[in-house]
Amino acid sequence: MNRPEDGFETLAIHAGQEPDPLTGAVVPPIYQVSTYAQDGVGGLRNGYEYSRSANPTRTALQECLAALEGGAHGLAFASGLAAEDTLLRAVLAPGGHLICGDDAYGGSYRLFSRVYDSWGVSTTAVSMHDLAAVRAAIRPETKLIWCETPSNPMLGITDIAALAQLAHEAGILLVIDNTFASPYLQQPLALGADVVVHSTTKYVGGHSDVVGGALVLNDAELAERLTFLQNAMGAVPGPMDSWLTLRGVKTLAVRMDRHCDNAERIAAALSGHPVVTKVHYPGMTEHPGHEIATKQMRRFGGMISFQVGSLERALEICAKTRLFTLGESLGGVESLIEHPGKMTHASVAGSMLEVPDDLVRLSVGIESGDDLLADLLQALGR
Ligand SMILES: *Cc1c(COP(=O)(O)O)cnc(C)c1O
Repeated sequence: MNRPEDGFETLAIHAGQEPDPLTGAVVPPIYQVSTYAQDGVGGLRNGYEYSRSANPTRTALQECLAALEGGAHGLAFASGLAAEDTLLRAVLAPGGHLICGDDAYGGSYRLFSRVYDSWGVSTTAVSMHDLAAVRAAIRPETKLIWCETPSNPMLGITDIAALAQLAHEAGILLVIDNTFASPYLQQPLALGADVVVHSTTKYVGGHSDVVGGALVLNDAELAERLTFLQNAMGAVPGPMDSWLTLRGVKTLAVRMDRHCDNAERIAAALSGHPVVTKVHYPGMTEHPGHEIATKQMRRFGGMISFQVGSLERALEICAKTRLFTLGESLGGVESLIEHPGKMTHASVAGSMLEVPDDLVRLSVGIESGDDLLADLLQALGR
């Protein structure tokens, strides 16, 4: 059994993952099953009835993620966007309004502005680093504030405790997308957030081999509504995907420390490089969010973005790396490089979420830091 005082690394390996009662298997089995025998009509064994409603491998993952975020309730989904969709359905209704960051993940903004708009929900994007702007965007029908910190791809930092206070004064829920930090580096619920969202596809799973999402929260009533919608809408992860994510989670703490070690070195090297005009990494003292990041994060993460003065140069760098693979996504053990303007954030071109065209984003992996640095320097040339 978990004890509340167990450390993060202990919870990652044991929370929700007691040895299997039947065989003693030390890892939760992959319950690759859709339905369960009943002992007489309505006589469920251990509450399992049908795997859309609940599956033991998914239960293990949900309990583990809840423990890691320090929350009472965890729900796993087929993708980060499926988790977001289920949450939006629970909290919003036609006529409702939400406020998100002007540097929100492009896919989240697309869901808000191009799917929920036709359901009568409107979205205002503002700078989350400007609390006065957030307050000014609040309307009587505003139901939630949606914030990513660090944000994607500009690595902007928002003061979660201050934003939670602002939201709660107005009777609005605060949702934090904690995908970039992972629960090892930052625990938004403890800072006052109401719901934490994850794309577990990224650091939580950590091996670029599975797509998934999660919600973690403390409020029992909202958790019950979300559990109803998880089953009613059906965007659940399968047992194999739940198991892969749970396998990834076990090493989250050690992976994150190495991601941070490598990213800190690379950010320092980039910031002195003649080709680089600007580095965005919250671990650097000149980053505008550095002080807040120091206050609310354990370390600064594995994501870096930087600018190089022109689109051509940015594309050239993306084409020249050997170890940094050109690709979307982030948070895996292998290093990735991408051009947000033409790749992950192409869907927000022309909107106020548009990103600079000379921006390059790195997801710094856990390979040898020496090798990563050498690769990047050769790609930068000069
Ligand atoms: C990837 C990502 C999402 C969406 O998650 P999927 O698993 O791809 O559906 C949401 N927020 C952030 C910050 C992301 O990086």
